[in-house]
Amino acid sequence: METLSVRCNHCGAPLQVADKTRFVTCQFCHSSLEVKRTENSIFTEEVAKIAENTGKMAGSLEIITLQNELERLDREMGVEHLSAAMNKNKSGSGTAGRLMGTLFGVFFTVVCIVMGTGFLKAGAGIFAIVPIGMALFGVAISVASLRAGLNEDTSRATYLTRREDLERQIAALKQK
Ligand SMILES: [Zn+2]
Repeated sequence: METLSVRCNHCGAPLQVADKTRFVTCQFCHSSLEVKRTENSIFTEEVAKIAENTGKMAGSLEIITLQNELERLDREMGVEHLSAAMNKNKSGSGTAGRLMGTLFGVFFTVVCIVMGTGFLKAGAGIFAIVPIGMALFGVAISVASLRAGLNEDTSRATYLTRREDLERQIAALKQK
């Protein structure tokens, strides 16, 4: 078996390694070494150092990934805000509009219930179904309006939380 002479990258001691050996431990300083070969030279590199470099590279890759994610979030949120603003201009809705919707729904429901009870008291029996059905419709309007508002608030809160989280992760990685 052919052996090659290399020097330990850490302490400089001469080492003999077999032709095909890739990893060797220095007999003198016990460094873990990787044997690297180029066309006309052979040298060693400390494995710990390689791992460190790989770690750094993975770290910066992670930063890039996180920053991309952050930009994507901002973009999405930006588009959402833009379309919300456009909707506001178009229909005059938004928070005030939703509040009106909810109030209208509640009011409508109350009126229908009063009407229904009146019908029942008057002995109109079957006709009470109509205002009761309309009352249910009123409840549906109220719930839908409320839910639209809640959904928007929730998605905004989620966005802000996610954004803070990402920024924290990026800052932590940059400190490494
Ligand atoms: Zn050594």
